[in-house]
Amino acid sequence: MQQLVILGGGESGVGAAVLAKLKGFDVFVSDFAAIKAEYKSILDKYAISWEENQHTESAILNAHEVIKSPGIPDKAPIVQKILIQGIPVISEIEFAGRYTTSKMICITGSNGKTTTTSLIYHILKDAGLDVGLAGNIGKSLAMQVAVDPHEYYVVELSSFQLDHMFEFKADVAVLLNITPDHLDRYNYNFQNYVDAKFRIIRNQTAGDAFIFWENDPVVAEELKKRTIAAKLYPFSLERHEKTKAFIEQDQLIIQTLNSFFKMPQSELALKGPHNTYNSMAAGLTATILDVKKENIRKSLLDFKGVEHRLEYVATVRNVQYINDSKATNVNSCWYALQSMKTPVVLILGGTDKGNDYSELEAIVKEKVHSLIFMGLDNSALHKYFDGKVEHVTDVASMDEAVKVAYQQANPGDTVLLSPCCASFDLFANYEDRGRQFKSCVRNL
Ligand code: ADP
Repeated sequence: MQQLVILGGGESGVGAAVLAKLKGFDVFVSDFAAIKAEYKSILDKYAISWEENQHTESAILNAHEVIKSPGIPDKAPIVQKILIQGIPVISEIEFAGRYTTSKMICITGSNGKTTTTSLIYHILKDAGLDVGLAGNIGKSLAMQVAVDPHEYYVVELSSFQLDHMFEFKADVAVLLNITPDHLDRYNYNFQNYVDAKFRIIRNQTAGDAFIFWENDPVVAEELKKRTIAAKLYPFSLERHEKTKAFIEQDQLIIQTLNSFFKMPQSELALKGPHNTYNSMAAGLTATILDVKKENIRKSLLDFKGVEHRLEYVATVRNVQYINDSKATNVNSCWYALQSMKTPVVLILGGTDKGNDYSELEAIVKEKVHSLIFMGLDNSALHKYFDGKVEHVTDVASMDEAVKVAYQQANPGDTVLLSPCCASFDLFANYEDRGRQFKSCVRNL
């Protein structure tokens, strides 16, 4: 029997393990940390062997193939050993793709993946399609292929998942944007990260669709170098010769060979320029899949948004509080500020992934009067912003951050948590950070 080793006993690893077991492989799951009780019980239910808090090399290096969870970097010693032995390493999505012929709608980009993935899922589901939501959004594709199959899957893909995909094909690929992120995992080489993102169109043929933001300088540059097999569906705020979704006279227009869709931009549920792009990408996807116009319109209008993404929390003493905890890089914070219509108190900071804050300078000077640095090490922020903004304060907890923000905000202002950084220095994850923010605001 072929031995399949799965590194990482989380959502994707356990899903892959169940699918592999049902397909008759000898499966072994190994996690260097503890495996959550709920996942252990699934593994036990399917009689899959597993270990936690260690990697037993003799068992792992015996594998004919390894499925690696996206959270484990290639430079982890065990992965290095596997690669040196020449054992193929794939992602859970690649593995799941071998056992389904369902239509795959795949979304990647540096920012907006979860929002756009959720919006596409919302449109397709409300239109009555048999659709599953999967990937980086937190639900295993392999598990659904194994025990709860659907005709369509809307799959959020991170660069780490794309890194280990080879034969998988997206029927519809969406590339929202590319800005520097996760450079620590790409040898601080931006091109490596760009190449990972472009794996979304690997194996596509003339019958497939590639949806992308045509004004993204990185994507535009890359397209000059590549021959793309799929049909192209660029979107942009302005209409150009080949643009398939754009804004004209305050209307969102989607125009393809056999369809014309129009709705007022003001009716879109998601606000802000970045969200207009997300709505365009979602509307194009639905159009390509022949969803009725009235369904697309209704779903773009009544979508509820996603927690921790420019989420309105409360208004206290005429100051609005907005939770954008998911803004873990500079570009997403820029878009958050761009969407603000009032003076801003900005809470930012955390684990810096090699950020370049110069992109923020102009908009911070224009809109922000107080910066609150919330991290264990705020030195990079001080180095960049000191002297550029009226008030700069250091804090080391959410409670303190919200108290300082409350003091510094004037009536009519907005307090925005949009950290530009990962959360792991002070919080369990960005959700924990966002929830703490909301609870501190509600306690004001
Ligand atoms: P991802 O899943 O790619 O991290 P999210 O939808 O979770 O994206 O949003 C992450 C952050 O990026 C949020 O702060 C959100 O406001 C911002 N954002 C959403 N869509 C875009 C976009 N198209 N371009 C830039 N920033 C965006």
